[in-house]
Amino acid sequence: MTDAGLTGDATGAVLVLNSGSSSLKYQLVHPDSGEVVASGLVERIGSETAAAEHEQNGDTRRFDGPIADHHEALAKALDLFAEAGTDLASSGLQAVGHRVVHGGQEFSEPVLVSDEVIETIDALSGLAPLHNPVNLMGITAIRALLPDVPGVCVFDTAFFHHLPAAAATYAIDRDVAAEHHIRRYGFHGTSHEYVSGAAAEFLGADPTDLQQIILHLGNGASASAVRGGRPIDTSMGLTPLEGLVMGTRSGDIDPAIVMYLRRVSDMDIDDIDHMLNSGSGLKGLCGENDFRTITSMVADGDEAAQLAYDVYIHRLRRYIGAYMVDLGRVDAIVFTAGVGENAPTVRRDALAGLERYGIAVDDEANVVRSRAARRISTADSEVAVLVVPTNEELAIARKAAAVVAGA
Ligand code: ADP
Repeated sequence: MTDAGLTGDATGAVLVLNSGSSSLKYQLVHPDSGEVVASGLVERIGSETAAAEHEQNGDTRRFDGPIADHHEALAKALDLFAEAGTDLASSGLQAVGHRVVHGGQEFSEPVLVSDEVIETIDALSGLAPLHNPVNLMGITAIRALLPDVPGVCVFDTAFFHHLPAAAATYAIDRDVAAEHHIRRYGFHGTSHEYVSGAAAEFLGADPTDLQQIILHLGNGASASAVRGGRPIDTSMGLTPLEGLVMGTRSGDIDPAIVMYLRRVSDMDIDDIDHMLNSGSGLKGLCGENDFRTITSMVADGDEAAQLAYDVYIHRLRRYIGAYMVDLGRVDAIVFTAGVGENAPTVRRDALAGLERYGIAVDDEANVVRSRAARRISTADSEVAVLVVPTNEELAIARKAAAVVAGA
């Protein structure tokens, strides 16, 4: 994805930040052309053995050593930019775009960073304790380091803000739900929006005419049904735990499992939370969460890996079926993200035997490796089955540039 150094010029570019608990990913990208000037990753923030890797002009620069916090991590990234010849503070950067996971009911659009916005994101931390506080660390750190560059928050939930009420509402006590802001928010929205738009472009169709099922299958995974460019359903809910089987997350379970475990085991609520978010999904079932490893374990006849794979596919097919009915007519089924873009067996098995519904994957096209958007359905498949690489960084950069232009 990185085309570092086509011009190397940062003027008008957007620095996109994705700030995690112990890692920070960044990319300097031109929103119009999509040209990536530089990209980098700081890992193990908060430890003595942190590492930063920065790619620019075809060169990779590294730092290994202690990095105390996100402020230091970004200061280190800025040093690496300077070593590569770019002083970000005076480079003509037009914005910093931040991926923020939970926008709650407050944010349906990207917003300029301000003290008030920071307070609101902080107030939403109860809904996303693993994500919003660490997203904020990146926001406040870069604000201190580059005070003259406007920041823009782009929310993972925003695309799903106007989900139809029937899809957004949990059938629980409505007063409890209202008091605690419990609804289905949906996540990976930036990717679902970008990919559904790119699929329409690939098909040469007007997005408002298209009905699509988008399958974002990465380490986290989610599905959405998109009609006329707007989502009518999605698999993630109050948090990114609901829905598909993921690398380490369970996806859908009977909610009674939580109460049952609390009563019969010595696990407290944090233990259960940790198990469902970090020790479940593929990892919980077979000890591994990387699909490449699981694929080779399956090939070697590993029974646990086979079951993990089967559960993963079973859940995926259940959502595809639900969204076929939700939409009524499906024009395209689109695979994206690490697994969706790279695992032909998943694409084949997710759609096997659906010819009578107008869905037929072409086995030869399906195994072709490419980084470009492509069609993998047969010529007579009524439904276009596509692989469309996601590009959340570019989507965030474009949204950030649009907010700054309109400010
Ligand atoms: P996230 O952004 O959610 O961390 P990605 O979209 O980068 O995840 O997807 C990461 C996952 O993609 C990896 O865990 C791996 O399982 C899967 N993946 C990457 N490359 C391949 C491949 N060649 N074959 C199968 N799976 C792959």
